[in-house]
Formats: sequence, C-alpha cells, structure tokens
Amino acid sequence: MIYDCAIIGGGPAGLNAALVLGRARRSVALFDNNRPRNAVTHASHGFITRDGVTPAEFRRVAYEEVLRYPSVDHLQTEVVTVSKIDSGFEMIDSSGVVTRARKLILATGVKEIFPEIEGLHPLYGKSLFNCPYCDGWELRDQPLVIVSEHSSVFHTAKMLHNWSKDLIVCTNGQVSLSDEQKKRLLSKGIDVIEKPIAAFIGKDGQLEHVRFADGTQIPRAGGFVAPKFVQSAPFGERLGCERTELGGIKTDHSGRTSIPGLYSAGDASYFMPSQLIFAAADGSRTAMGVNMDLTEEDFE
Ligand SMILES: Cc1cc2nc3c(=O)[nH]c(=O)nc-3n(C[C@H](O)[C@H](O)[C@H](O)COP(=O)(O)OP(=O)(O)OC[C@H]3O[C@@H](n4cnc5c(N)ncnc54)[C@H](O)[C@@H]3O)c2cc1C
Repeated sequence: MIYDCAIIGGGPAGLNAALVLGRARRSVALFDNNRPRNAVTHASHGFITRDGVTPAEFRRVAYEEVLRYPSVDHLQTEVVTVSKIDSGFEMIDSSGVVTRARKLILATGVKEIFPEIEGLHPLYGKSLFNCPYCDGWELRDQPLVIVSEHSSVFHTAKMLHNWSKDLIVCTNGQVSLSDEQKKRLLSKGIDVIEKPIAAFIGKDGQLEHVRFADGTQIPRAGGFVAPKFVQSAPFGERLGCERTELGGIKTDHSGRTSIPGLYSAGDASYFMPSQLIFAAADGSRTAMGVNMDLTEEDFE
C-alpha cells in the first residue's frame, strides 16, 4: 500500500494537516513519537477556545477529532530514515517497518538549545519560559529576569516592560547591548548584569534566585530565557531542502519545499513565532497544498 500522504510529527501542525487531509478523503500515515516540546509546561495559552488547557489535554482532544476520519492511521513510532523513491517517499521507523507515501509533510518541530546554566531544566516551563506571549500574563507584575546572550534582548526587555516593571536583564557574560541601549533600559529602571550566571536556584519549579559566577545572587520570581532553536529532526537537511535565514525549512505559501512532493509545516518551517495556533494554521494550509497537488496529478 502507498499512502496519499505521510506526516511526520503529531503536534498541532501535523494534527491539523491530518484533519484536513482525512476530511478530504486522503489516506494518511501520521507518525508521532510523542515527545511534544511543550510537555514541560502546565498550561498552553493564546489558542482561542483552548486558552489555559494542558498540553496533554490539547493533544487528547486533537487526536480524538483526527482519528474520527477512517483514512487516517496514527503510527505511534519514531521515523528514523526517509528516502525519496520514484513513487514518493519511503519512511523506516525504529522497529524497521517500512511505510511509503506519495507526498510527505515534515511537521517535526524544533528543539531549544539553552545556555548551559545549572538549575535551568527543573524550572523551565514552570517559572522560566522562552515566550512572553505564551506565559507573560502568568508572570505579570512579578520580579523577573530576562536571560539572553543575543542583541535581541533589548527588544525583549522593551516588550516585557508592559508585563512587569520589575525587570533585570542578564547577558550571561556576553556584551550584547550598546552603552546607549543600557542607558535607555536603565532610564526605565531595568538593570543590565553582564556577569556569567552560575545557577538558577529554586524549588518545586519556582525560581527564587539567580546566582552569578562571582557568588553574588539576586532574588527573582520568574523570567524568560532565550534559547537557540534548531530542527528537531534531520530529514529536511538530509533530503536537501533549502533553508530560511533562521534555519527553518523554506516553503511556498502552500507548504511546498524545494524538493518536489515534500512539504513542511509548523515550527520546522518558520521557527518564529513559535505558537500553537500558527502551527495548526500552517498544517491546515499545507494539507490544502498537498491535496491540490494530488488532485492535479490524479485528474490528469
Ligand atoms: C515551555 C513551552 C511553552 C509553550 N507555551 C505555548 C503557549 O502557551 N501557547 C502557544 O501557542 N505555544 C506555546 N509553545 C509553543 C508551541 O508548543 C509550539 O509552537 C508548537 O507545539 C509547534 O507545533 P508543531 O506541530 O510545529 O511542533 P511540535 O508541537 O513540536 O510537534 C512536533 C512533533 O513531532 C514529533 N516528532 C519529531 N521527530 C519525530 C520523528 N522522527 N518521528 C516521529 N515523530 C517525531 C514530536 O514527538 C512532536 O510530537 C510553548 C513551547 C514551549 C517549549
């Protein structure tokens, strides 16, 4: 059997693509190894009708809806190899099972690379986050730290000033702000600390202090840490897809990559803004691109 379309990744992008293709009566192999990036957090925000839902509940409802369509198969496994074949694409999973499909959507998302700071991981998704739109409201008016080694921290600090006036910027040993920018931040009461950070100190997910390499520390109740985003799966690169400047898989407005028959949707394509509703919309749009291309081929 050859599926009309395989989708690697069952996050909001892959799930919404599967929903649209299932409703379009296409046979779909939806692969997912069940490692959602946002699983560390207690609640997802900003998705209308789903604001405040847990990531697990979001996925439960989504799978329930998608699997109502009998032409969608949910393959709960990890894809390890993808090859281009004459009829489309061949996927091999971690048990060696081979699946073929005419079209393939990569919806594998991204992963974060954080500065190596002790104590970060137990607090991430609980009182330390990376996205103000996702969790800024929950941290409003609290004493916050913004940790970033990049020059974009100036913009982040300006934006976060609307969520809390009690901000401290830490560059973790980097000199990423100009004197003029530091002066402007200071004029709003935002200190910039350029010393390397040794550790985040906290308990039960709650940040209490930021400790610096020189032994000093400051009390903080939460904050935002800027990661570097990279692809979570190697398939786009291995298949030779063109990339965007940020490192996303380059697509047209219907999700087509530079490789014929290969599509990409969600965080994997655009990296930013990393949002559930953008990913779901992108999955929907890409599924329509796939269906359009299948229709053109089949109608001929
Ligand atoms: C801590 C945190 C909090 C967040 N909070 C919010 C929020 O409040 N609101 C919001 O809008 N956004 C939030 N986000 C961002 C949001 O989670 C992402 O933008 C969204 O999940 C991207 O969807 P996606 O489908 O592109 O990728 P993902 O959701 O990352 O899904 C990718 C899927 O692909 C699967 N996969 C990867 N490789 C393989 C493989 N080889 N084989 C099989 N399956 C594979 C993974 O298991 C995963 O299920 C948050 C993110 C984090 C990290």
